[in-house]
Amino acid sequence: MDVIDEALAGGRVTIDLDALKANYTHLAKLAAPAECGAVVKANGYGCGIEVVVPALWDAGCRTFFVAVSSEGLRVMKTAPDARCFILNGLFTGAENALADAGLIPCLGSVTQIENWAATAKQRGTPLPCAIHMDSGMNRLGLSYDELARTVEQPHLMDHLDVQLFMTHYACADDIGHPQTEAQRERFLQGADLLPGVPRSAANSAADLQATDHTFDLARPGIALYGGEALNDVDNPMRPVVTLEGRVVQTRWVERGGAVGYGASETMTRRTRLAYVSTGYADGYHRAASNFGVPMRFVAPAAVTHYKGHTLKGVGRISMDLAAFDVTDMPDDAIGEGDWIELFGNNVPVDDVARAAGTIGYELLTGLGARYARKIIGG
Ligand SMILES: *Cc1c(COP(=O)(O)O)cnc(C)c1O
Repeated sequence: MDVIDEALAGGRVTIDLDALKANYTHLAKLAAPAECGAVVKANGYGCGIEVVVPALWDAGCRTFFVAVSSEGLRVMKTAPDARCFILNGLFTGAENALADAGLIPCLGSVTQIENWAATAKQRGTPLPCAIHMDSGMNRLGLSYDELARTVEQPHLMDHLDVQLFMTHYACADDIGHPQTEAQRERFLQGADLLPGVPRSAANSAADLQATDHTFDLARPGIALYGGEALNDVDNPMRPVVTLEGRVVQTRWVERGGAVGYGASETMTRRTRLAYVSTGYADGYHRAASNFGVPMRFVAPAAVTHYKGHTLKGVGRISMDLAAFDVTDMPDDAIGEGDWIELFGNNVPVDDVARAAGTIGYELLTGLGARYARKIIGG
């Protein structure tokens, strides 16, 4: 990614590596005695693979999960001694590239198992893999019956170094959802077919709530980055990502004036607006417009006494701009060049996501390419 000079940027993403490491340590404690891996797909949930992998390694993480092999190559370049699993599985034709790079596919169909075994046979050595079972999500993975047939075929199994048997829960975010227990039971039936193979089922939500889901290896993602993994409980994780928009202009709007596209919001009083140079093209969702999203002003060092001001979004978020009501702040308290926190320590990313009708995952993984990026801690 190109590095963007803060002086030229309309917005800024700050990644707090101390918070990331603290989150990993917390999740690892909950997972123990199971190993705790880290899911770093989607560019480390928007934080940057090359940024998060060394910090997680430093915190003790040795096993990483990504979605696709292009991400896996970046992990191996950043941490050559890491174990890196490819969650989405194996495309036909990609076998030798993965094997050359030391990447470990999560084989999710009989065809993928056949292709990986054939490649291993050609190369004359068993190749590492995970076997992914579908336990009820109906997404990726072998059914129980496919698994039962596969494990009885030595011409396949003899060529596989099966390092992990895994499944994925559909409803772990919903504590006590009956499907999770049903999936767990189906998964354990499958595990009986692969005695001695380490098992993994827990995403962040399962890691956070119960010890009987972590098995041998937990694989949290969102909670590492501070997002909410569980519904309806306080989020115990530290925010890792702060998103700030930079004020490009402030202006007064008379009472009765309408703001922005569609004239969607009419001012009921004389209003001072601060426009930040950040919009939906930067991943600051248009759907969060006009919902009264509370935003807080993070004061520059010189004016820290304004910290805590809540600023309401006004009118529609446009592609490159968003407006906030700063009428209640002294005129000289905010102006061009100041940074407004769009989410971070004061405004949880999940609150903004809720205002946009989505989840924190989507905001983090959708952070645009125009931000200046700053790393703190670590
Ligand atoms: C994304 C993903 C995870 C991590 O999920 P979080 O909810 O972010 O913790 C774990 N396992 C699989 C298979 C995934 O696709």
